Amino acid sequence: LLQLSAPLNLLGMMYREVKQAFTNLERLFGLLDERQDVQDRDGAVPLRVSRPRVAFESVRFAYDARREILRDVSFEIAPGGTVAVVGHSGSGKSTLARLLYRFYDVDAGRIVITDGEDTAHDGTGYDIRDYSQASVRGAIAIVPQDTVLFNDTIYYNILYGRPAASRAEVEQAARAAHIHELIVSLPDGYESEVGERGLKLSGGEKQRVAIARALLKNPAILIFDEATSALDSKSEKAIQAELDRIAIGRTTLVIAHRLSTVMDADEILVMDAGRIVERGSHAQLLARGGHYAQMWRLQQQESRAEALAGPQPA
Ligand code: ATP
Repeated sequence: LLQLSAPLNLLGMMYREVKQAFTNLERLFGLLDERQDVQDRDGAVPLRVSRPRVAFESVRFAYDARREILRDVSFEIAPGGTVAVVGHSGSGKSTLARLLYRFYDVDAGRIVITDGEDTAHDGTGYDIRDYSQASVRGAIAIVPQDTVLFNDTIYYNILYGRPAASRAEVEQAARAAHIHELIVSLPDGYESEVGERGLKLSGGEKQRVAIARALLKNPAILIFDEATSALDSKSEKAIQAELDRIAIGRTTLVIAHRLSTVMDADEILVMDAGRIVERGSHAQLLARGGHYAQMWRLQQQESRAEALAGPQPA
């Protein structure tokens, strides 16, 4: 028995270490909680889509059963279309993204992904719980609010988007994300160390690295979680142009903190306390004169104030 228990203990130790490593990773992404990890169903099928349609159907969700976070949320993103979500901090915007990436499963309702090109299909699509989790995550890239860079080279940090990519593909993604020029101007180029111990990149530069990573992955579905940190209007315009470009042909969910980012979306959802309280195009929502119109007026006043104050010293 003694002989047997030694390796078992070792296994137990290894298990705990591996589990801890994942826990740290999850904490890194701000995702740690008490809920069970999602599991593949028996007979889960791989998701293969080129132009997917994504639909949330009466979705309910709570991290903790005592406090419902999403209440009866329904919306649809057409193949290659863009839906933007706005609303107060804590209203549940990022939770939508986490459910689509299947970090968690919904408590009620469902999320359906249909291949927009699949005409032979009856168009009802599959619940994401019927697909293998790995294939769902393979089809989606997230450009997060605050990109975490690994303590490694900038090359590795981009390559992470698709580890099998070639050097030429990494550089092409960096060019498309407008970060290549900066990288080659560094003394060590793509081999420059970044992260905590390396080169400190600005928020905007980090987001470009994240965009390059996402482009390298070449996903059918893109989730863009806009940075909350205040950007000057020039950087804001640059990121906006970036987003417009990378979203072309991809089914895109934008979690927005600035209304200027959402003006061109097919549909804008205004969230409040886990519910969609207003929805429509920018023009429709302005005409409605509700929450969105009020938020818009406020932001306009702020940017006018910024313009009047003139360029700020660096
Ligand atoms: P922000 O604009 O600040 O990013 P948000 O609208 O994206 O906010 P969510 O991140 O979706 O908001 O959070 C919605 C609510 O769920 C918040 O009240 C938050 O405290 C809670 N919440 C988020 N993540 C967890 C978690 N892992 N465990 C428990 N509660 C959580």
